[in-house]
Amino acid sequence: MNVADSEVVVSILSGAGFTATTEIKAADLILINTCSIRDNAEQRIWGRLKEIGHLKKHNKELKIGIIGCMAERLKEKLLETEKLVDIVVGPDAYRELPVLVSEAEAGHKAVNVLLSREETYADISPVRMDKNGVSSFVSIMRGCNNMCSYCVVPYVRGAERSRNPESIIREATQLFENGYREVTLLGQNVDSYKWIDNQHSTGFHELLERVALINPLLRVRFSTSHPKDISDDLLHTIARHENICKHIHLPAQSGSTRILNLMNREYSREWYMERVEAIHRILPDCSLSTDMITGFCTETDDDHKESLSLMEWTGFDFAYMFKYSERPGTKAARKYKDDVPEEIKSARLSEMIAIQNKLSVKSKKNDIGKIYEVLIEGFSKRSSDFLSGRTSSNKVVVFPANGQSKGQYVKIQVERTTSATLIGKCINSI
Ligand code: SAH
Ligand code: SF4
Repeated sequence: MNVADSEVVVSILSGAGFTATTEIKAADLILINTCSIRDNAEQRIWGRLKEIGHLKKHNKELKIGIIGCMAERLKEKLLETEKLVDIVVGPDAYRELPVLVSEAEAGHKAVNVLLSREETYADISPVRMDKNGVSSFVSIMRGCNNMCSYCVVPYVRGAERSRNPESIIREATQLFENGYREVTLLGQNVDSYKWIDNQHSTGFHELLERVALINPLLRVRFSTSHPKDISDDLLHTIARHENICKHIHLPAQSGSTRILNLMNREYSREWYMERVEAIHRILPDCSLSTDMITGFCTETDDDHKESLSLMEWTGFDFAYMFKYSERPGTKAARKYKDDVPEEIKSARLSEMIAIQNKLSVKSKKNDIGKIYEVLIEGFSKRSSDFLSGRTSSNKVVVFPANGQSKGQYVKIQVERTTSATLIGKCINSI
């Protein structure tokens, strides 16, 4: 999400005559794109601000801005108590950046954190910041209308709005024509994507199909699916198109129905399990990943065990796991006590990570001997004798380079695995 936003910001500023640099000391303007989802993300930004602040001693012209979620949440603190910051711009006000930078240059504090009901930046062509030129993010909606009780996103990024499908298709087509071979459609809850035009309504599965039809050589991924909304129509659409990747990120958050209710996730453990069964039925080779939160308010040992057993039952291929972090202003912060002691949160998180490591190893061992179509993303991090790419199921595969290049599809037979990667040999180029 943040990468996609940074690319929009670079596009807006390029249009106003700015040029991006990777050399921080050469910059006259530094914008830090921030996330407020967990407290430790915010803490890292405070640290980074102090480091960057020193650069002002050497460059008196330097202006520093905070953009994104933290701007929205902490505007007063950023401007008043932290004198380092000149510009504060929330996620719906990026179009104002050129004007705000001029205001800062004239010595004023420049702030715009207004949230919008309409802004989707649909007409902005993001300037790609990725290094590989093969895979890219495309934002299809902004904000969120769900009110998960722990989550700050609806407050800092505003209400959900979908982007015009024509502008999404245009952007994805342009990427394909520029050599990209994979797009990931991004939204907080992609299943609730909806665009109504002349009485015609486009839902997410229709949008996904249109993107898949751009070209069979363009792989399509998406994130994030919400278990309460993921539909059989979507699963059938994924099944119909080989270039829609067989991987679903379906955050469960907890395996305990009682905790899910307190989290306001609007599904039960049983509902989640039924959706996983539907995925296995309709998409037998689909991999699954999740987000899990440990130590949410009132979570007992039994609730925690239910999270672990759901993870084992589903057999996730991958998981992002977090300790609950209370976010000011959310329903959980207002109504429930953050009553699971820090040591217990940590112990539960370690237990969860250990289980997921076991599941990830098992999932990779199952791949040994299998043949996968892999989209090459570039050289492996360790050695330029090896290339690296991903399977449709989102697993990283490394294999000896033999004249193939990035953006190409190859068939790879998996021979062995490390903890994070599959290692194989090329059977043929596709
Ligand atoms: N829209 C996505 C999630 C976006 S936030 C969804 O609904 O799945 C990414 C992840 O951060 C969440 O899935 C959740 O696991 C985690 N997260 C969000 N708020 C959190 C909090 N207050 N404490 C700990 N983890 C949190
Ligand atoms: Fe946050 Fe829930 Fe929206 Fe995801 S769906 S962004 S967790 S409120």
